[in-house]
Amino acid sequence: MKRYIRPYHIIFVVIFLLNCLGYVRKQRVPRMVRVAIVCGAESIRIKEADASQTEEILINHRFPMYYRGGVYVNGRKYRGTVVLKKIGGKLWAINVLKIEDYLKGVVPAELGKITPNLLAAAKAQAVAARTYTYAHLNNYQELGFDLYATVQDQVYLGESGEDSLINIAIEQTRGEILVYHNKPIEAKYHSTCGGRTADFNDAWPGPAPPYLRSVRCPYCSKSPHFRWQKTYLTKERRKFDNRRQGVRSWCRDVSIWRPGNGTPGQKLP
Ligand SMILES: [Zn+2]
Repeated sequence: MKRYIRPYHIIFVVIFLLNCLGYVRKQRVPRMVRVAIVCGAESIRIKEADASQTEEILINHRFPMYYRGGVYVNGRKYRGTVVLKKIGGKLWAINVLKIEDYLKGVVPAELGKITPNLLAAAKAQAVAARTYTYAHLNNYQELGFDLYATVQDQVYLGESGEDSLINIAIEQTRGEILVYHNKPIEAKYHSTCGGRTADFNDAWPGPAPPYLRSVRCPYCSKSPHFRWQKTYLTKERRKFDNRRQGVRSWCRDVSIWRPGNGTPGQKLP
């Protein structure tokens, strides 16, 4: 009987299948984030979860040093792993942890402690903070971390800053981010806009994403910062007059006062 299958047939089929693997592999979603929690310090105080005493780490140690499982850094507790290392002759602490755990230390820094009626707000904030995180992974690749734990990125307070209700909001929105053309958006968020948000180019240079244009906002009117007053001195008036030409029509009730000497002053025309 004639043989139809020869060894080189099998080799061709195996090579073909191996080439296909690249197309069927699942898209990998990053789950971890590296956050710089101490930047350029002379010393760092460390207390491990099971230790009774705090240790002061100085620059003469051997780096990098790794701490796992709920370590205290400068009195604040952190989930995941903390890596101490030397960058430019100074000490840095990088917290490496799951993105979902990182968010638990971020959202309370923005909202503070919440009551159950604010759970929806916390969920919205969680989605915005998660989106920001995914959009800025590898931001500081050359320094070996993703985000700063300050307003430079998002304020991050570690496990010490967590709130049990906000943790629920993060778990209920697990993995949810805002996307535009399949990419995480620039999820800028604000406290109070005064009734209309600023346009992207009012704050930042460069091409404006189409979803960050100035819009009317009905949500801020209950904020204590919705209305505010600014007092100008007479000598600043000319500067202000020039600027007033550029003030948008949504800025209302502009009046100029001459400061009084212990009196309410006098309104100028
Ligand atoms: Zn607003």
